Amino acid sequence: MSGRERITLVWLKRDLRLHDHVPLAEASRRCREGGRALAVYVRETGYWATDKASEDQWGFVAECLCDLASGLGKIGCNLLIAEATSAESVLEILFEQYEITELLCHQETGNGWTFDRDKRVMRLCREQGIPVVEFLQNGVLRGSKAPREKPAHQAFWRDWITAPQITKPEFWRNPSAIPSGIQTPDLSTSEIVLRQRGGECLALGLLESFLGERCLLHEGYRVEMGSPLHAHEVCSRLSPHLTWGSLSTKRAAQASMAREPRPSHGSMMHCNSFHRRLRWRDHFLQKFESLPWMEFRCINPARETLHGWDETFYARWANGMTGYPFVDACMRSLNETKWINFRARAMLVSFASYALNLDWRRFAPHLARTFLDYEPGIHYSQLQMQSGTTHGSPPRIYNPIKQSLEKDPEGEFIRRWVPELNDLDGSVLHLPTDHSRRGYPAAIVPPGSLWRIMRSNGPKNPKSAGKAALPQLELDLGN
Ligand SMILES: Cc1cc2nc3c(=O)[nH]c(=O)nc-3n(C[C@H](O)[C@H](O)[C@H](O)COP(=O)(O)OP(=O)(O)OC[C@H]3O[C@@H](n4cnc5c(N)ncnc54)[C@H](O)[C@@H]3O)c2cc1C
Repeated sequence: MSGRERITLVWLKRDLRLHDHVPLAEASRRCREGGRALAVYVRETGYWATDKASEDQWGFVAECLCDLASGLGKIGCNLLIAEATSAESVLEILFEQYEITELLCHQETGNGWTFDRDKRVMRLCREQGIPVVEFLQNGVLRGSKAPREKPAHQAFWRDWITAPQITKPEFWRNPSAIPSGIQTPDLSTSEIVLRQRGGECLALGLLESFLGERCLLHEGYRVEMGSPLHAHEVCSRLSPHLTWGSLSTKRAAQASMAREPRPSHGSMMHCNSFHRRLRWRDHFLQKFESLPWMEFRCINPARETLHGWDETFYARWANGMTGYPFVDACMRSLNETKWINFRARAMLVSFASYALNLDWRRFAPHLARTFLDYEPGIHYSQLQMQSGTTHGSPPRIYNPIKQSLEKDPEGEFIRRWVPELNDLDGSVLHLPTDHSRRGYPAAIVPPGSLWRIMRSNGPKNPKSAGKAALPQLELDLGN
């Protein structure tokens, strides 16, 4: 007998919700059986100091934590929100103060930093003889269980996504002594932000408004997701909630499957399209789980040196100052709101890789910390696909002028985000022309040779790219 109180410990990571949360539900069950439990989240300053993390993302997480703490408070659970360089130092303190009968958590498919941290925590628990139970929160399998081929993953996913959700915890018994010697973070966030706000309540509201009405706005989700003008209201906007776990993928998928068809609106078509994207999400996470090195290395080793670097080009791209109005409007909108639609993300990456010849590894952190929904599994796969450093599929080169004419024909989006040009209209808005007297820069690469430059910065060995020649217009794959 250690003399310490025996408790179940729940370690929260990117799973900041009450509903469909196996570790919390399991701990609640232990409490009903007479046990006690503590739920802890650690703000890891080591992680938040990396170049892939940002204050905005932390703000979103802090809002999720406040919402979760309030929900758990209703069943009498005091959520411990701690701060330390890394989770294991807080866990060590808790291991000293309590006899931890088991550590319950979700399996996380994170980036290199969180993966290394998980390994350290596992080692610590092994040394202390504390059993760790990791539950799946996404349709992703680890180690020898990981499906090797796409059809095997799809079959697993179909079963996983239709399995019942876990009901929220209803009962809790805290440890009799509160933990001591633990630093806590500041959870206050700015009143005025253009980014989305965090929290499970908001996630559920978004899910409902998307499936109920927003997916039908304008020309509908399937058409408008490509338009930066309407995508922000017609897309689900659930990505940051799925990333930080204020909504489970299963809950989102089951809600879309449960929609009654409304033939006059074709809403099922939109729900099916949304559902397919949730499957892609877990497909990419599964791929990253099996090939985590793709955060650092090209999937196709022959493309390791495909692109180079230019600090001035990078700074102009990242600040929306390339002189290509639509590219700059997309980047400025992203920098302000922390979200942009799929097509614009793909075009921004394609422009950086092919027009500016920038290596994806060096500009990836800008996007990682700017996207509120930075999800390593999707992020690195997509970055590499749009940069032409994967195997097989032909390179995706987006012509930014064609995108501008197609997706923002009236120039409304450009005028909103590039105010230097807001008194212009018509085709002059789409073309990089000399607007220096308005304080807007000249084109970073000459528009007359843009396509030649983009092609020449593509794979030098077209055979290995799977296509004999690059197409004249962009290959339109993805959303
Ligand atoms: C270069 C690049 C980087 C990207 N990085 C991220 C990222 O870090 N995090 C992220 O969540 N998405 C990323 N995406 C995918 C996509 O752009 C976003 O998921 C989407 O824009 C989020 O908005 P939404 O939630 O309204 O999407 P919706 O269209 O409503 O889709 C619903 C959900 O499905 C998933 N999803 C949608 N499209 C894709 C896709 N092509 N591949 C995999 N899953 C998808 C997302 O979880 C999304 O929230 C990236 C795309 C590109 C081209």
